[in-house]
Amino acid sequence: MKTLIVTDIQNDFLPGGALPVPRGDEVVPVANRLMDQFERVVATQDWHPASHESFASQHPGRRVGEVILLRGRPQILWPDHCIRETPGADFAPGLARQKIDHIIRKATSRQIDSYSAFFDNDHIRATGLEELLKREGVDDLSLIGLATDYCIKFTALDAAALGFRTTVLLEGCRGIERQAGDIERAIAEMRSAGVDVVPPSEGE
Ligand SMILES: [Zn+2]
Repeated sequence: MKTLIVTDIQNDFLPGGALPVPRGDEVVPVANRLMDQFERVVATQDWHPASHESFASQHPGRRVGEVILLRGRPQILWPDHCIRETPGADFAPGLARQKIDHIIRKATSRQIDSYSAFFDNDHIRATGLEELLKREGVDDLSLIGLATDYCIKFTALDAAALGFRTTVLLEGCRGIERQAGDIERAIAEMRSAGVDVVPPSEGE
């Protein structure tokens, strides 16, 4: 069964939000169109407690963008974003949420971030997405959403490692590009892991 994963199309990741992805709003109409072409649609939400340790605000003296060691793992410090049950964590207003069959929420525990929709960044806690997909007989995944160089990349790498046929449709993705070349490097990494990354022109 072919399933579309709609990744983190949430207010805080859109222009004007707390952690805006440049041109992130452009993926909304693409998502609405593509959702009609799949048998199943799973949407993910970044869903943090207010005191999440990926937030610079939790580390006095540290600034957004700094990288710290959090329990032995490098962690980029982000602005407060996608705090659960707040408008910033809600889906983009134009997203056709009636087309979403399942919602997976991630990064829900305070101590660890979760870029992948499958596992936290330590790969210890699963979100339940793998179980859900296997229960429904899904073997073929396509990914769109935000952001190409974070949650899309890590979700796609996990999906491929778990044995799903995995496609990233770039027409429906935008990246953060904290450093020049991040998006291109993410695409190369996904491709070398066996992910089919489809450029916008071929995805039409
Ligand atoms: Zn987050």
